[in-house]
Amino acid sequence: MSDLSAMNRSQLIDRMTSEHYDLVVVGGGITGAGIALDAASRGIKTALVEKNDFASGTSSRSTKLIHGGLRYLKQFEIGLVREVGRERAIVHRLAPHLVRAEKMLIPLIKNGTFGKFSTSMGLMVYDVLAGVEKEDQRKMLSKEETLSEEPLLDASNLEGGGLYAEYRTDDSRLTIEVIKTATTFGADLINYVQVDEFLYDQGTVTGVKCADLLGSQSISLKAAYVVSAAGPWVDRLRSKDKSLEGKHLHLTKGVHLVVPHARLPLKHSVYFDVSDGRMIFAIPRNRVTYVGTTDTDYHGDINHVVTTRQDLDYLIDAVNHTFPSVDIAIDDVISNWAGLRPLINEEGKSASEISRKDEVFESDSGLISIAGGKLTGYRKMAQKVVDIVAKRLRKEQNRAFKKCMTDEIVLSGGIFDNPEAVAAYIDLIARKLEGFGFDHLQANYLVSNYGRQTDEILDKMADYQDDEPDVALARAELWYTVNNEMVHQPLDFIGRRSGRLYFDIRSVPPLIPSLFKDLAHYFNWSENEQVKAKEDLDRALFEAENFT
Ligand code: FAD
Repeated sequence: MSDLSAMNRSQLIDRMTSEHYDLVVVGGGITGAGIALDAASRGIKTALVEKNDFASGTSSRSTKLIHGGLRYLKQFEIGLVREVGRERAIVHRLAPHLVRAEKMLIPLIKNGTFGKFSTSMGLMVYDVLAGVEKEDQRKMLSKEETLSEEPLLDASNLEGGGLYAEYRTDDSRLTIEVIKTATTFGADLINYVQVDEFLYDQGTVTGVKCADLLGSQSISLKAAYVVSAAGPWVDRLRSKDKSLEGKHLHLTKGVHLVVPHARLPLKHSVYFDVSDGRMIFAIPRNRVTYVGTTDTDYHGDINHVVTTRQDLDYLIDAVNHTFPSVDIAIDDVISNWAGLRPLINEEGKSASEISRKDEVFESDSGLISIAGGKLTGYRKMAQKVVDIVAKRLRKEQNRAFKKCMTDEIVLSGGIFDNPEAVAAYIDLIARKLEGFGFDHLQANYLVSNYGRQTDEILDKMADYQDDEPDVALARAELWYTVNNEMVHQPLDFIGRRSGRLYFDIRSVPPLIPSLFKDLAHYFNWSENEQVKAKEDLDRALFEAENFT
């Protein structure tokens, strides 16, 4: 049985409560996942607890780009551009199925933010800093070339364009693959376990007291070090530790909307400027195009972040202004998501001016917290924290640990020699799926999500021969993710493992009865549990399809 099987929960809890860990990580977003992998692979005995599902915080609500941070160039954050540029190449190598090269088109508009010369120079500096391979380096385009790359742009004010290299990913899949890889090095990771208090011995943190949110028990974990990677919740945990002083978080909300690809049929990902001086991405992805993001100060409930009509109007106006012929309306929006950036406050700076740099806080009690940063930089953030922990453990316990080696650890599902091997595998899967009536996009979806693990899912489909192919595939994926990715709730699967909530929401309703039946069977759900799960899923579907 996989260490991340949801069926293994009680044994896992028994094991975790009887261990004495070197390190307990709080938070199962990309930052915590990265720390767990780095620490475990160096030989540090590590546990991670996540209060909701893995990646349910900011790490499922980003723009889903592993990017070189072109916008940081505008803010002259040269070091950051260089670091994230290098990092994205590494993450692409570690999971080539999940981190895919994506050309981004910047249209140059009459009286727009960008001139031809400054864009050309900016992209050139970006290529150098980010170490972009020669064949991927920026290309400046004439007006005609730009229109041929993206005919939906407004020809009346277009002056040209710039094409540059980015990478696209799925944030929650990246998080779960990092988590799965951490278990292969012996880390113990669990979701639906919430840290309520820190445990202390003479003022020093020695563990965490948690609630099992799928059961009723209280769980105490003992550790030499506790790291909080709680994203937007970092300050809450610092408050519990009575160490919230000095620097603190500045939360900003970012919203994305999703429309059917047919309503915004972009040939290209486009990064365009908006009248308020910000930049927005429009990214075609399989059957949809998604657009984002907003960046507004947030003071609401951090456990429940929703999209407002104002957020959607802002994005719709931006789209219609840049691609006037499409005329998107609110009814075209089929899904949306909203997330919080856990930025480090900088007095007097507005939401979009604040640096995206990460920062480590250490309290007198020994609690280490990390916040800020980017999905793209998760590996480096992890290295920074684990270097601190390893150094202390070495000194205090006279133990030796390996150096950080996560730049060489291929993520689960990512065993491909190069992007061509990914493309060949997609073709192979597409041929296997032909008999079920699926198209190439379905193969692309499966391989982007699960990489080589797709084989196991397709094998399992044979057990569901009596179902329609869509249902059989979803049931096989559900079975795989329950047994290997700790799926407990419908939304874990529909949202964060399969991405259907965001990228294929219309496929969800016909799947619900079978998925519920399987989950009720796997977990022996009571009538009440079924009702509660259904209410939670209905609410999530409603919020994805609506706004306040
Ligand atoms: P989170 O993902 O929020 O994880 C923290 C976790 O801690 C949560 O899952 C939470 O449930 C858990 N937790 C909290 N309290 C407790 C507790 N008491 N006990 C147990 N668990 C707890 N970056 C990029 O590189 N590329 C992008 O394209 C990009 N786009 C973005 C767009 C938007 C709109 C936003 C908001 C961010 C974007 N980012 C992007 C930034 C990136 O998404 C974040 O930096 C990253 O996801 C933060 O991850 P995290 O693990 O620190 O936080």
